[in-house]
Amino acid sequence: MTDNRMKRFGALLFDESTMQKYISSGSLAVWRDCVKTHTFLPENVTEDIAEGMKKWALENGATHYTHWFQPLTGETAEKHEGFMIPDGREGFRMDFSGKELLRGEPDASSFPSGGLRSTFEARGYSAWDPTSFAFIKDRVLCIPTVFCTYSGEVLDKKTPLLRSCGALRKQAVRVLSLIGEKTEGIRVNVGAEQEYFLIPKELFGQREDLRICGRTLFGADAPKKQELGDHYYGAIKPKILSFMQDLDEALWELGVCAKTEHNEVAPAQYELAPFFTDANTANDQNQLTMELMKRIAEKHGLVCLLHEKPFDGVNGSGKHVNWSVSTDGGENLFSPGSTPAENTRFLLFLAAFIKGVDEYPELLRCSAAYAGNDRRLGGHEAPPAIISVFVGTELEKVIDSVINDEPYTDSGDHFLTVGKDVLLRVSMDNTDRNRTSPVAFTGNKFEFRMPGSSQSIATPVTYLNTILAQQLREIADELEKSENRQLALKRIIRRLFTEHRRILFSGNGYDRAWLDEAAARGLRNLRNTAETIPEYISEKNIRLLTENGIYTRKEMYSRNGIHIEKYCSIITIEARTMLEMIRKDILGAVSAYLASLTLRFEFEKRLSTNVGALGDELLERTETLGGLLKKLDGLTDPNERLALCAESLVPQMAACRETVDNIERIIDKRFWPYPDYTDLLFAI
Ligand code: ADP
Ligand code: MG
Repeated sequence: MTDNRMKRFGALLFDESTMQKYISSGSLAVWRDCVKTHTFLPENVTEDIAEGMKKWALENGATHYTHWFQPLTGETAEKHEGFMIPDGREGFRMDFSGKELLRGEPDASSFPSGGLRSTFEARGYSAWDPTSFAFIKDRVLCIPTVFCTYSGEVLDKKTPLLRSCGALRKQAVRVLSLIGEKTEGIRVNVGAEQEYFLIPKELFGQREDLRICGRTLFGADAPKKQELGDHYYGAIKPKILSFMQDLDEALWELGVCAKTEHNEVAPAQYELAPFFTDANTANDQNQLTMELMKRIAEKHGLVCLLHEKPFDGVNGSGKHVNWSVSTDGGENLFSPGSTPAENTRFLLFLAAFIKGVDEYPELLRCSAAYAGNDRRLGGHEAPPAIISVFVGTELEKVIDSVINDEPYTDSGDHFLTVGKDVLLRVSMDNTDRNRTSPVAFTGNKFEFRMPGSSQSIATPVTYLNTILAQQLREIADELEKSENRQLALKRIIRRLFTEHRRILFSGNGYDRAWLDEAAARGLRNLRNTAETIPEYISEKNIRLLTENGIYTRKEMYSRNGIHIEKYCSIITIEARTMLEMIRKDILGAVSAYLASLTLRFEFEKRLSTNVGALGDELLERTETLGGLLKKLDGLTDPNERLALCAESLVPQMAACRETVDNIERIIDKRFWPYPDYTDLLFAI
């Protein structure tokens, strides 16, 4: 790597090394301490940081600043303020102090609040999160902030994430100290693999469904899909490579290191995996990555589709959330260790997490439940909607030996007793991967594969943290009461594995037989968003999230309302777009095609009859869809609206699509109003 490139790493990030140059060492020490102890910054230090930040930003070409926050839309929001304001005489003064750094008051009336913010109190408050670094994007100094109402109710995705890291820290430190390990804190590590599609901008512009819904609502299969597997890891085309290089460069300057970039399984599909970092930063970075992908694609005459399922018939896009927990000394708690004590710790954290997943599968399922992801989960390209945990056959044997209280002999004939005097050596071969599992242990981390490509990772990580925090709290309570901790520890690990063994599944999750087996094991299959949403506010989940200080009950109810309304809005917009495309373009194309036939020959007569009949069918199905939309307009009860969308609108849209795709398969391409799947997927 050239020196120059190394210098550019994080050049647009106000990170610790940059802070060192712009802030007094005294203030920096206070900041470090506050970040570590999670306490507020004193006013004079804030002033000092604001001053340094401003100087740095201006030197690096920034003209404006903004509080950059993550409202419940799942995207990011910003409102730019100029640094310079007229001083009332003839000059300008620079307007940015500790007050501006700490607190903003964006007009929040258009962000979802689920009724938490009354309309007369339109303002929301954003407050600097000093644990994530400010950065410059498009000559704007962006200050990562949390976002809440006037009375402190949370309106964003970042705050719960920070709270969950805090909850996990507290309980993990408790447990670690009870098993004789002193650590001041822990770190949640996250690396989010991001999948996406790239298509030519020109073709994108010709399809209303892509422009409005981010996915195709119609489209007959291209003759070739992904069956040859020739795209996956294939040579990257020059146009795409040039996009990836620009993206890497832009991310690099923001301190995001794109570790791998490659072609994905579907044609026109790609993936970026950054180097993992702490959860809060990883979440900011993933938001930035998604934003930059879209913007940089535009510059290359491309459009980046982050939707979970832009095209039927080929794979959709997910976002694998790799997650692990380490001590502040950098020891990974999900890493099988090299001493018996480390192995006991590993088994304890493993057992705790497995129990957490088994007790709160609905919540994890909720974190990936929304309209776009419904088109992907369970579709033989993504994990099924049933939550299970994959640990691999070797580790499963270890767990069984713990359950049966038997010695464990590994394949290499090593005689191992867990947590006693012999080492547990679990080889974590990366090839032993099960790609069909929603929660997979991959050596020293868990990979949560359910989330969709367009969504924020904040909520999935929040729930992973919280379910582990809860288990650790229960374990700590039990250990505190026990007289012989070593014995108690062993007993707990054994009990947890025994009671929650049913959640472990190493087989093929795409296999239909798994549905029956899972049902026999009592594991739930929440097939879609509509079935999942009500689970969010079950008493069990409310207790978990309120007792761990993640949300208040009121916040959860408001979020529930937002989830329902968002789902209904997406379905409604898709249905309306569909109606418009059928009425404005497709029926006309059918008529034009029919009129072009001379009907002098038998084949033309047959085509005419077939297409004519499909046209009749389409009109009828479209009218039914229109009727359902009207009916939805008349409904006010959120649950009734949810049911109508899921049970009537979605299937009716599928029916309309079926007819349209059948028509597309028959009629002459000259009459077809849109670029087809072959054009879209094989243009580059
Ligand atoms: P895959 O084979 O699924 O593509 P990789 O090994 O490339 O997975 O890693 C995927 C992601 O996991 C990367 O973002 C990587 O930085 C991240 N990762 C690696 N180790 C850890 C860890 N201990 N904790 C959290 N994330 C991790
Ligand atoms: Mg992966």
